[in-house]
Amino acid sequence: MQIKNVIYDGRGDLCDLLRAAGFRDNERLLVQVFSGISDLALINLIRAVMERHLPRAALVGATCTGEILDGCQTEKSVLFSFCQFEDTEIKVAGAECADSVALGERIGSCFRHSLPRALMTFATALTVNGEDFVRGIERCCPGVPIAGGLAGDLLQSDPGFVFSRNFISAGGAVAAGLYGDNLHVQNRYSLDWVPLGKELRITRAEKNRVHTIEDIPAAEIYARYLGHESPQLLPALGVHFPLIKTHQDTYVAYACIGKNDDGSLDFMGNMETGAYVRFGIGDTSTMLASAARHCRELTAWQPEGVFVFSCLARKMLMQSLVDKEVSYIHSVAPVAGFFTSGEFYSLPAGNQFFNYTLTIMALREGEAHGEPQPCPDVEIEVNPVFKALTHLVNVTARELEALAGTDQLTGLCNRRSTQEQLCKALENSRRYERPLALIMFDVDHFKHINDSLGHHVGDQALREVTGITRALIRRTDVLGRWGGEEFLLICSETGREGALELAERIRHGVEAAAGTSLRNTTVSVGVTVSRAGDTLDSLLRRVDEALYLSKKSGRNQVSCL
Ligand code: GH3
Ligand code: MG
Ligand code: MG
Repeated sequence: MQIKNVIYDGRGDLCDLLRAAGFRDNERLLVQVFSGISDLALINLIRAVMERHLPRAALVGATCTGEILDGCQTEKSVLFSFCQFEDTEIKVAGAECADSVALGERIGSCFRHSLPRALMTFATALTVNGEDFVRGIERCCPGVPIAGGLAGDLLQSDPGFVFSRNFISAGGAVAAGLYGDNLHVQNRYSLDWVPLGKELRITRAEKNRVHTIEDIPAAEIYARYLGHESPQLLPALGVHFPLIKTHQDTYVAYACIGKNDDGSLDFMGNMETGAYVRFGIGDTSTMLASAARHCRELTAWQPEGVFVFSCLARKMLMQSLVDKEVSYIHSVAPVAGFFTSGEFYSLPAGNQFFNYTLTIMALREGEAHGEPQPCPDVEIEVNPVFKALTHLVNVTARELEALAGTDQLTGLCNRRSTQEQLCKALENSRRYERPLALIMFDVDHFKHINDSLGHHVGDQALREVTGITRALIRRTDVLGRWGGEEFLLICSETGREGALELAERIRHGVEAAAGTSLRNTTVSVGVTVSRAGDTLDSLLRRVDEALYLSKKSGRNQVSCL
């Protein structure tokens, strides 16, 4: 494989540039064009000149907010990346469709009969929902590593163009599939934005529009946590403070890209009601440290060419440091790519649509031979002030949360935090289709303990019930004080049988506690397990009814509904 990256500044003779690149016309030549000039006439000129000079070569391209080549970034110019394969075959597809899942399927179906080794794909921003698009591709091309991203400039509301030899669109996608047993592919990415502060619950969202967070208009949440002037500074300020969601052990960052009059905000990527997010913050030293790490890891693999698709939010934060970042990667192999409005990536768990990441696809034909080049010795220290500051904020947030969410008497979760945990548990059980059980129990005739032995004995009895129950539950179970002498136990990954067994052990544990303030004290227990379509209310109502049933049938027993 031979790679050459050339910059065209929009003037001068394009034919000369293509001739000077020195590639003969052939089917194994992939030409990727990343244009920082979003001009239809220029793109069409490029396509025409390519048709004339390199009619057999494969062409795919996109407009963008900045080009990445070899050791640096450029702006407002056109990057031609020539990739001459030895025995890798290339197939190009282009499609338009208003529905992004269908668009992904249309692109993917062009490659479904014989799956490629890798797929480079570009789609227009604004008109294409990146998350849906990569899902559509995955349906047709499961397991195929993808690279690329959204074209255009989301912040300037420019969807951009994607194009190939015979296709151009401001509302579609193009892809180049690479085929060959000899082609080796490696991908890697880094986010480098870390979550900061309190976890916030999205209380109403539709697709990529978030109406409320913690039941407050989304813009007001920005005002509360980032300062009262911050809503006026959206979406520009929002780019620096994405919302970060944890998804299957991976952090995914979502940029705010638009503000609406009703206080709702639009994000780059879908957000669902019930999801938990935190504000994120990025630091340039962390980004450089990641680039150096990629460089070390890639050196051993010996790529012949590297394609980089990096979020424009990184460019906004890093500014001229981007050159340094890219130069580390360039020390391993030629580099071409662009700044995206969202990146396409494949994890073992499936295709991802990322924001804020640096994504890398490294290619090599044949086995690595010889000794790898020595890797430049860059060891980057993450800014200690940034590290300390994020630590400070996160520890403080955790401490405050613990304080706010803890019941003083028993040290258990209080009602509010128990309810929050139940929301999360229900959400997870729904999403991953896992069982969830709820156990509610209440001390029988507790009033009598208070009245006959005094309030302090009553308090002690509540602590003892807590201790007995704690000793019986798993670390992942959540025990909360739901009311005066009423407790709620959330058992994830637990079905009806397991829950009934545990409930019986709690009942028996309290009854058997002799020689303590619990002498002659019993509890009544209600049990239920989540069902399809359950809401927080329906689940709580059922467990409460189960408890009531135990009380009504004579107390000191377990009922399940
Ligand atoms: P039942 O078997 O129907 O549950 O009867 P009960 O007496 O347990 O229920 P009731 O709801 O009539 O009384 C609950 C009592 O719990 C009333 C209230 O004063 C007492 N209580 C609530 N919180 C605390 C607390 O923190 N400490 C003490 N000592 N008592 C409490
Ligand atoms: Mg009671
Ligand atoms: Mg009660």
